[in-house]
Amino acid sequence: MVLSNFDSLCDRYTNMRVTFKFNLSIHFYEFKQYDIMNTILDMKHTKVTYEMPNCYADFDGKFPFEGIELLKSLELTTVNVPLRFGGKGLGGNTGNRQVLEVLKEVGSYDLSLGRIYEGHINALLLIERFGDGNQKERYFEEAVNGKIFGVWNSEMPTEPLTFNDLNGVFELSGAKVFCSGASNIDRPIVTAEGEKGTRMVIIDMDELRLNEDYTYWRPMGMKSSVSCRFDFSGVNFDQKQILGGPYDYVNEPDFTSGAARFAAVQLGGAEAAIRATIYHLEKTNRTKAPEQLARLAKLATLQETGRLWLKHTGDELNKRYDAPSHSMFRANLFRTVVREICENILSICEMSVGLQGMMQPHPLERIHRDLSVYLKQPGPDRTLIACAESFLKYDR
Ligand SMILES: Cc1cc2nc3c(=O)[nH]c(=O)nc-3n(C[C@H](O)[C@H](O)[C@H](O)COP(=O)(O)OP(=O)(O)OC[C@H]3O[C@@H](n4cnc5c(N)ncnc54)[C@H](O)[C@@H]3O)c2cc1C
Repeated sequence: MVLSNFDSLCDRYTNMRVTFKFNLSIHFYEFKQYDIMNTILDMKHTKVTYEMPNCYADFDGKFPFEGIELLKSLELTTVNVPLRFGGKGLGGNTGNRQVLEVLKEVGSYDLSLGRIYEGHINALLLIERFGDGNQKERYFEEAVNGKIFGVWNSEMPTEPLTFNDLNGVFELSGAKVFCSGASNIDRPIVTAEGEKGTRMVIIDMDELRLNEDYTYWRPMGMKSSVSCRFDFSGVNFDQKQILGGPYDYVNEPDFTSGAARFAAVQLGGAEAAIRATIYHLEKTNRTKAPEQLARLAKLATLQETGRLWLKHTGDELNKRYDAPSHSMFRANLFRTVVREICENILSICEMSVGLQGMMQPHPLERIHRDLSVYLKQPGPDRTLIACAESFLKYDR
């Protein structure tokens, strides 16, 4: 294909972003009119799902401001703020399927945006679970007013984040890496080691001027997640900013079952790869070849498998406090099977499109890089072992 055709492909994809906005708006319009428990993405998002490959080559490496504004305008940033604080009340012991569906849709729009959004959802869940009355009051109100939250736990063993008690005022020392969203996150929760163990601290990032250090963030994909390093040494905080007790960050079943959220975002990226592939095959008149049809059939089964797993896992998560081991098992299975599905989808899409899908500005090029990076999540081997152990214990 000549370059001018690439340009027109890209124009078409840009138009599709508009289509996506429009369709998701309709969604939310409908969502607002229905009972909240019937909710958003149960009403199938056919147009969003089939028409919207993401093409953000021009935004690569920049924070997705436009995407965040879109999420705010659709009130997706409050899906898991409790109803009594003005949110949609999903994601505790109800509505987890819907939360996963939303995460998948945002991931299919832009995986970097999906990563940042997942951190926001995670932080709000931690506040709901471990926050005291004043913290809930303050932070949920801020979320409703558009503040963006995140969770920054990763660190280098050589510079762990710790804090000292200076008579009621606390001081941080050390750094965090892979801080998705960078300075654009208003309220990150950071984990820091104190005398009594690891605590969560909610940082007022908008009051700080910290250097965004990109020394450790030169990835091949997910560049727009701007996951930089921050040195927090010398930053002060007070008691009111400490969330929960020692080691609550790794409290189960939420810690393990939370993996279902990043898996949902990954599935969205894989669905975007399929849409980019189908669009390419249609545009190049290559849908009739039996080998292409066979690959499309395989893509259809993989996509459907992912969707069924997502629904089932979402429903299981509603019961996670009643049956914690089972939910953790389910989330571990889900993240494992989603990784395999995504890897298969990427390799089939790659084969179907060929060289053009490996070159900018073809949308598959970016989706491929982003998804390959985002599939790298902590401890996949450990997760497999946990799956096997749970299988032996609970599921025979
Ligand atoms: C785009 C992106 C954004 C991110 N944003 C954030 C963020 O906002 N906040 C945050 O806190 N973190 C963030 N992270 C970091 C993330 O949470 C994980 O820390 C990271 O993805 C771990 O990936 P890894 O491949 O290094 O995992 P690892 O766990 O190191 O896995 C690598 C391989 O080593 C194996 N392995 C693991 N442990 C051992 C062991 N002890 N012995 C032998 N083998 C082992 C694994 O099974 C796997 O095969 C982000 C990551 C990405 C990709």
